[in-house]
Amino acid sequence: DEMDVDTIWMDGEFVDWEDAQIHVLSHGLHYGTGVFEGVRCYDTEDGPAIFRWDEHLDRFYASGKPYDMEIPFDREELTEATMELVRRQDLESCYIRPVAFYGYDSLGVSPKDNPVQVAIAAWPWGTYLGDEALEKGVDVMVSSWRKHASSQIPTNAKTTGLYVNSMLAGEEARRNGYTEAIVLNKEGNVAEGPGENIFMVNDGEIYTPGLSESILDGITRNTVIELAREHGYTVHDQASISRGELNTADELFFSGTAAEITPIRKVDNVEIDDGTRGPVTEELQQAFFDLVEGRSDDHEEWFSYV
Ligand code: PMP
Repeated sequence: DEMDVDTIWMDGEFVDWEDAQIHVLSHGLHYGTGVFEGVRCYDTEDGPAIFRWDEHLDRFYASGKPYDMEIPFDREELTEATMELVRRQDLESCYIRPVAFYGYDSLGVSPKDNPVQVAIAAWPWGTYLGDEALEKGVDVMVSSWRKHASSQIPTNAKTTGLYVNSMLAGEEARRNGYTEAIVLNKEGNVAEGPGENIFMVNDGEIYTPGLSESILDGITRNTVIELAREHGYTVHDQASISRGELNTADELFFSGTAAEITPIRKVDNVEIDDGTRGPVTEELQQAFFDLVEGRSDDHEEWFSYV
């Protein structure tokens, strides 16, 4: 099949792709009560290495907290399962998807005795927003859908149900000929993309919305902030960015595990500066890919070798 996966880890065991099944009355399917992660493993000079696995695991467990969801496997078990999945399938670089959700018991909204089920899959996945995106940038649309406010649903938890909003925004953009969306929060300020955080560069300084803007606390966002500071940039990581600033920015880019660092060249068909990848974006992309692909010895603590 297209995902090129033959083994999936599920509830403590490795099972064949076709056997990784759940009940149709699972709570998570009906009410969106799951949490998940998206992680990348890069093919470095020292072999496959999972990038920032510890932080992804932290967020995975933390995402379950608001939902009283205790993931019934500890860090060592999930780590070993993931490493073994990569090894068994001879993957070099890949995308890793852990998911935990309330399974089948009753269909009341309260998941009283519903078991928490956990699965992990890994498969090869190239660039998220198209092959040319990393160099040329993407055209984005400011979605007419607002992001849910953090007072309505915890936006710092990576919950499956939240992605209904991401899908609405992303598909609206694609129906209108754009590659991706930018989603404003309830206050009308810039929040993030459907699956990416957003950065703005102005007069050589870097801005990104803070957690109070109803965003996911992205691990790539955090990586970009650290790398940018190491490169001498002032980073305003609690910024509040108004819609109009999107049009006047010197540079804009997305960050995310899937999207990595992707320049934004146009917003609502208005070019960002001259519509090409900006120099700060390019410098940070270079630093990022040198790091994750193992061409730099920095931040060894961010790599878990398979
Ligand atoms: N925001 C949203 C809504 C996302 O889904 C993602 C992808 N996980 C991100 C931001 C970026 O987060 P990360 O860098 O941890 O992948």
